Amino acid sequence: MNKVIILGSGSASGVPTISDGWGQCNPQNPKNRRSRAGIYIEINDNKFLIDTSAELRNQLLINDIHHIDAVFYTHTHADHIMGIDDLRAMNYHIYDISGINKPKNANLLDIYAAETHLAEIRQRFNYVLADEKSTEITHRPQLMPKVIQYGKIIQINGTEIIPLEFSGHPIPTTGYVFNNGELVIIPDYKTIPQQTLEYLQKINVNVLIMPLTAVHECLYHASMDINLHYIKLIMPKKVIFTHLGPECDYDAVKELCPADIEPAFDNMQIEL
Ligand SMILES: [Zn+2]
Ligand SMILES: [Zn+2]
Repeated sequence: MNKVIILGSGSASGVPTISDGWGQCNPQNPKNRRSRAGIYIEINDNKFLIDTSAELRNQLLINDIHHIDAVFYTHTHADHIMGIDDLRAMNYHIYDISGINKPKNANLLDIYAAETHLAEIRQRFNYVLADEKSTEITHRPQLMPKVIQYGKIIQINGTEIIPLEFSGHPIPTTGYVFNNGELVIIPDYKTIPQQTLEYLQKINVNVLIMPLTAVHECLYHASMDINLHYIKLIMPKKVIFTHLGPECDYDAVKELCPADIEPAFDNMQIEL
């Protein structure tokens, strides 16, 4: 069975926030307690991660996830990347420590990202990349950088993934289409470029996961109105709103959602 787990349903500050607490979220509703953005995908026996938030370790332990085949990055904002160190645990799993005749590079974990995002990872976390000279750090992740091209198919063990460009955030961000629309992940965004939109309108989208950082107008993020506008154009079967900020109370957002759209919560599972 193919499925998705929303590891973290919160925006950059999480909910509650350190500065302002619960915002407009009801503290009595456990669905309002949100860690930072992350999605786990099980598809055609592949196990994928979208982004690595600072809370990645807890998110993986809570959901009993101990193995990942590849990571796909949407962009390099802190809320999406600060858990990158914890990927070293995935290297241990791929790499049979007792094995002698393992294939060369058998322990590497592939991370896919746009060229600009990979360049930034290299600058900020160069020690995590397997193609960088080793540093004094003894236990470091061994991540193999793979550059994605927008619109160009990636094939991984029977799964087809197409990266797409999104805009409106201070930097271009990357969304991913799995198996021709079985699952579509929209990253932090405010507008969908024409080419991306045309592609999404051409395919049959089964489950669409997209951010709703704030219900109303927001500088770098799409509001509810913008999301609904694009949903109408893309016509997915089911939509999950994630990356929810402190303004987005679970029940209040649910009230605003038409049928087949619902807000996410941490550890929510969705069958594909
Ligand atoms: Zn974010
Ligand atoms: Zn962002």
